[in-house]
Amino acid sequence: MIKNCKHCENEFDLHSRRKKLVGGYINECPDCVEENGGDQSPPKYLGVTAGNGKMSDVTILKFEDQASRNTFQKAWRNNAGQNLGKECQIGKHTSMTSGLKFKIVSENRGNDNHKGKL
Ligand SMILES: [Zn+2]
Repeated sequence: MIKNCKHCENEFDLHSRRKKLVGGYINECPDCVEENGGDQSPPKYLGVTAGNGKMSDVTILKFEDQASRNTFQKAWRNNAGQNLGKECQIGKHTSMTSGLKFKIVSENRGNDNHKGKL
């Protein structure tokens, strides 16, 4: 997809290898992104919770791109059984999250102790 850069107004290919490598906003050419000191676009964060034990785990993940974030969020909601009620916490199938690039930014592990179990 050919876009016009908002800084230099040159055309560039949004899906080129170089643009993917350099990053930056959708309307910035790779040259201008590098000139302006690298990728200034906001990180793709996603916070997820797990309902295990007496306290829920909270994990904050950072993704390399919006598509990976959306895929992970969809898979998480399915696998965690969100909006399916309490009788079963697993969705109809288990969605794969392999191959997605993300880093764990923060993790707060809950106490797994459940109903007196040590
Ligand atoms: Zn430019």
